[in-house]
Amino acid sequence: MDSRCCTECNRYGDNWYSFCPHCGGEMMERCGECGFFEPINKKFCITQANEASQDLNIFVKQKLEIYDKIFSYIILIGAMAIGIKFFDGNSVNQAASAFNALQYFLILAVPLVIAYCVVCKVRRKKIIEKFKAENPKYLAILEKMGI
Ligand SMILES: [Zn+2]
Ligand SMILES: [Zn+2]
Repeated sequence: MDSRCCTECNRYGDNWYSFCPHCGGEMMERCGECGFFEPINKKFCITQANEASQDLNIFVKQKLEIYDKIFSYIILIGAMAIGIKFFDGNSVNQAASAFNALQYFLILAVPLVIAYCVVCKVRRKKIIEKFKAENPKYLAILEKMGI
């Protein structure tokens, strides 16, 4: 959201203009919840929303870290195993064995990447629920944000 509709003339102005560049109407007001100046027709307190999403992102990142690690290790070990299998010094045709290695690597990596994405997506939902349970102060704002 980079621009915002003026409540007086319905034309658009930059998000953080205090007054509408077209009609001079007010575009900012003191937020009843945080006390800072925020856009007049905002759907929720922007300061609270920023704070909640920042904390949520840190929380999700920490909880997903373990999956990142497991995924990286499997890829690394798989790549090493394939490397050892195909580059043992006995290969006559280096290009063909490199191509074979690449094929095996893709056979390993593609399903892993898909599995990783599915796991992260499913886990993310559960992690957000956990975050809400542990941070009841953010419940209301997250609901308004549709999270
Ligand atoms: Zn205006
Ligand atoms: Zn606010």
